[in-house]
Amino acid sequence: NKVILLAKRPVGKPALNDFKLITEQIPVVSEGEILLKSLYISVDPYLRGRMNDIKSYVPPFELNKPIQSAVIAEVVESKNADFKTGTFVSGNLDWKEYQVSKGKGLTKITDQGSGLSVYLGILGMTGLTAYLGLIQAGKPKAGETLVISGAAGAVGSVVGQIGKLLGCRVVGITGSDQKVTLLESKFKFDHAINYKTVTDLNEAVKKYCPQGVDVYFDNVGGEISDAVLANINKYARLPVCGAISLYNNTAAATGPRLQPLLLTKSATMTGFIVSDFTEHFAETQKKMTSWFKEGKLIYSETIIEGFDNIPQAFLDLFEGTNQGKMIVKI
Ligand code: NDP
Repeated sequence: NKVILLAKRPVGKPALNDFKLITEQIPVVSEGEILLKSLYISVDPYLRGRMNDIKSYVPPFELNKPIQSAVIAEVVESKNADFKTGTFVSGNLDWKEYQVSKGKGLTKITDQGSGLSVYLGILGMTGLTAYLGLIQAGKPKAGETLVISGAAGAVGSVVGQIGKLLGCRVVGITGSDQKVTLLESKFKFDHAINYKTVTDLNEAVKKYCPQGVDVYFDNVGGEISDAVLANINKYARLPVCGAISLYNNTAAATGPRLQPLLLTKSATMTGFIVSDFTEHFAETQKKMTSWFKEGKLIYSETIIEGFDNIPQAFLDLFEGTNQGKMIVKI
C-alpha cells in the first residue's frame, strides 16, 4: 500500500524531495469501518499553504504524516451498514492507495453519469468556489466587465463561463497562447491575454476592457492584479479567491500597493474561503449540476496517471502545465 508523506517543509518553490513515498500493509478493517481504494486524487494550490508551519484556516500538515486532499474512492470492503461494497465516495482523505474510514465526512456519489472525476472539479469544490465567490463577493450584473486571473485553471475557467451565462463581458488572463485560444474558442471568453508574453499588461487590460473593469476575480495576486486594479471602475468588486503567484514567496509580505485606487473608486476587495458559504452549498450544487447537464457549462481537466506522480502533479500547478482541474488517476 503506497503512501505519500510530507518529508520536509518546502522553502520557496516546493520540490520532489519535500515528499516521501513509503509502502505499508493494507490496513485491516474493524467493525464499523470501510476499506477505501483511491481512484482520483485532487492536487490544489492551497495545499502549499498547509505545508508551512503557520496558523491558517486549516491546520498545517504534520511532518512525516500523509498529505490529504479531496479524493474519490471506492468502498472495497465494508463492516459499516451505511456503506455497501462498490459505493463511490468523495472526501478529504490521505494520499494513500488504500485507507480505512468510519465514513465520517464522506459523501456518496450516487450519479456517475458524468464520470467520477467531475466531483473533484466542476461538480465539487471547484464549482462551488467559482459560483459562490463570483456571486457572493463579485456581485456581477449583466453588461458589466469581468476580468479573471488564472483564467484557464480549474476555478477560473468555470468563473468565466458563469460570467458569460450572466451576461457579462469576460476577459481572462492566463500563461500560454494555447490557453488563450482555449479560453476564446472553447470557453467563449470575449478575450484572453497571455501575461507571460504581453509587453504591457495594464495596457492590454485597458484595450480589452474599454468600459473598465467592474469585477476582478483574482486567483493569482501580485503584479497581474496590480495591472487589473489600475483599470477598475467606480464601485468595482474584487473577490480575492487565491494568490498563487505569492504562495512560494520567502520574503515577508507587504500590503496592497494600490489602496489609493480602491479608495478613489469606492471599490470593495473581498477575500473569501469557499467554506464561508456552506449554507449555499446544496442549492449551488443543484444549479451547477443542472447547468452542466444542460451543456451550459463545459469542463476541462488534466489527468495525470499513477499514484507515484501525485507530488509532480502538485508541483506542476506552479508551472501552469494544467488546463482546468489537475487530477491524478490512481
Ligand atoms: P488552477 O487550476 O488555476 O491551477 C493553478 C494555475 O495557476 C496554473 O495552471 C497557472 O496557470 C497559474 N499560475 C501558477 N503560478 C502562477 C504565477 N506565478 N502567476 C500567475 N499564475 C500562476 O488551480 P485552482 O483553480 O484549483 O485554484 C486557483 C486559485 O484559487 C488558487 O490561488 C487557489 O489557491 C484558489 N482557491 C481558493 C479557494 C477558496 O476557497 N478561496 C478554493 C479553491 C481554490 P497559468 O498557465 O495561467 O500561469
